Amino acid sequence: MAEQEQQTVEKKEKEPDFSDYRGVMIVVEQRYGKAKAVSWQLLGKGRELADKLETKLYALVIGHEVEHLAKEAGYYGADEVYLCDAPELKDYRTRPYSRVCLKVIHQVKPEIVLFGATGTGRDLAGAIATHLPTGLTADTTELDVEPPPSRLLLASRPAFSEKMMATILCKRYRPQMATARAGVFQALPRDESREVPIIRVENDMKEEEIAARVLEFISETGKVNLEEAEIIVAGGRGLGGPEAFGMLKELADALGGVVGASRAAVDAGWISHDHQVGQTGHTVRPKLYFAIGISGAVQHTVGMSNSEVIVAINKDENAPIFQIAHYGIVGDLFKIVPAITEAVKKKRGLPIGPLASTTGGNRA
Ligand SMILES: Cc1cc2nc3c(=O)[nH]c(=O)nc-3n(C[C@H](O)[C@H](O)[C@H](O)COP(=O)(O)OP(=O)(O)OC[C@H]3O[C@@H](n4cnc5c(N)ncnc54)[C@H](O)[C@@H]3O)c2cc1C
Repeated sequence: MAEQEQQTVEKKEKEPDFSDYRGVMIVVEQRYGKAKAVSWQLLGKGRELADKLETKLYALVIGHEVEHLAKEAGYYGADEVYLCDAPELKDYRTRPYSRVCLKVIHQVKPEIVLFGATGTGRDLAGAIATHLPTGLTADTTELDVEPPPSRLLLASRPAFSEKMMATILCKRYRPQMATARAGVFQALPRDESREVPIIRVENDMKEEEIAARVLEFISETGKVNLEEAEIIVAGGRGLGGPEAFGMLKELADALGGVVGASRAAVDAGWISHDHQVGQTGHTVRPKLYFAIGISGAVQHTVGMSNSEVIVAINKDENAPIFQIAHYGIVGDLFKIVPAITEAVKKKRGLPIGPLASTTGGNRA
């Protein structure tokens, strides 16, 4: 026993040699040929990490009829793109997708592999990490690297019910893997002049070898996709009840956006949790964020402060939300929101419906 312990100690002291592992790889997620925004956001972050490590940034695109996405990955910052395009890969299934990832990882030997922390990304990353085997940090919100020679990935995520940030290291295995939340990192501007090499990878798994079959894909109707939305109209406790969310929905519809909410509104049961923005909800990075009747508690703002333009509407001029808002309107939301909706509709040539006067009029 003592001898065994001695051996483990000695083993630990020996630094493993990872000099043949180089490069940062982003696994691009797509559905029906449309990439998830988090993939391009990760390429933006990956570019920064690769530059710090003085190494290459790779993208891996898997699917069927997805060659255009390989080009897109180049436009968003990848130096080289691996593409596996086959009919068997049309729908996401763990085994064939992880088989392709493993093949490319063995071939390229990247030191870091990143996935979006989506349902698919989590499933795929977990399957690969256990196969390799290597370490995986799930749902990270901050990523950095120690410069060479250490080259360690510093993968940070909230821990202990979001009360603290933990930075997790994977010292003895490669590649270092992480899934990262959507909306946290920023994509690089799309640059169509970037033409990068596309390396084709064969799919080795035939349909008859794949146990899982996708019979039908039923999309969740009515479920919001906050992370992909460019415009979010969010409401908080200031709305006073569930009815006023109808008024917000009208503004969101007029703008082509979706409705978000603070936790106070969700906890009150006025709207479902999938609308929640913040520390325990979604992290979002839209072009335009309306914070309506939201005070701006830090647990809310951590989820939306990276929005490009923030408009706050609040009757309390001292509400903390005004500290991060680009535009602020002090006043009663029940008067202001319908007025904005009407102005937007006029400008966009949309019919001014009866809803605008009734929902607003309830409380105004
Ligand atoms: C561990 C933890 C995790 C959390 N996670 C989240 C999270 O993910 N997301 C989140 O949002 N919160 C989260 N919270 C809660 C957070 O701390 C706040 O309690 C919450 O964000 C407050 O929501 P609110 O701004 O809607 O409500 P309030 O703070 O009550 O603010 C309501 C605002 O509406 C304004 N108002 C009222 N009436 C009107 C009117 N007629 N016109 C205009 N303005 C009006 C008021 O002036 C006020 O500023 C978390 C808390 C903890 C402890």
